[in-house]
Amino acid sequence: MAFDDHIDKSGDCWLWTASLTAKGYGRFRNPKTGKSTKAHIYAWTRVNGPVPPGKEIAHSCHIRRCVKLEHLSPKFHRDNLNDRAISLRNRTRCKRNHEFNSQNTYITKLGYKQCIECRDLLRRKRDERRRKKQQQMS
Ligand SMILES: [Zn+2]
Ligand SMILES: [Zn+2]
Repeated sequence: MAFDDHIDKSGDCWLWTASLTAKGYGRFRNPKTGKSTKAHIYAWTRVNGPVPPGKEIAHSCHIRRCVKLEHLSPKFHRDNLNDRAISLRNRTRCKRNHEFNSQNTYITKLGYKQCIECRDLLRRKRDERRRKKQQQMS
């Protein structure tokens, strides 16, 4: 079945009538490549080419299964969270200006670089606070 055979064009929105993703986007399996893509992204990219980096294809009508080109436009990701994560990953110095080198860097569970000197500094401060507290109590 061709892409256009799965579209209900009777209304203002062009509704995808084949399978949907869990989030309600249309899902289209490209018969040439065998790859599944979101139907609205396929509709947009087959006319306009690849999605520009850092952007996503957004619906002006907010109907996720709509594949009408007039309702689709590339938008920046909702809140530049991704850009922020990338810039954090590419830093060469931490906020206290210690260098990120192989001895002084570890990667957190979230994939961020962490400065070992800073981590040790914070630990020492915490221990110091704790010691002071104990001294006050005794
Ligand atoms: Zn629409
Ligand atoms: Zn540091």
